[in-house]
Amino acid sequence: MTILENCDYYIRLIPLPGSVGGVLTPNDDGSYSMYLNDKHFGEMLLDDYMHEYEHILNCDFDAGKCIREIERERFKKGA
Ligand SMILES: [Zn+2]
Repeated sequence: MTILENCDYYIRLIPLPGSVGGVLTPNDDGSYSMYLNDKHFGEMLLDDYMHEYEHILNCDFDAGKCIREIERERFKKGA
């Protein structure tokens, strides 16, 4: 796992529709808010976390791409 330097992210478990693993939003201060589904647990929750974490690692919010394009590329990679 890559360690991110100078990047804060905050994780909150919140109610989300069952099929939604998580949502990631950038904050004005350069940090991120990661919202994960409070109905998921164990490996499923870890997979949700890793999916959102990869968005941070890949600087997906800086890419200027729409979220559908980003997710389509992600699923091609199998993550
Ligand atoms: Zn995603």
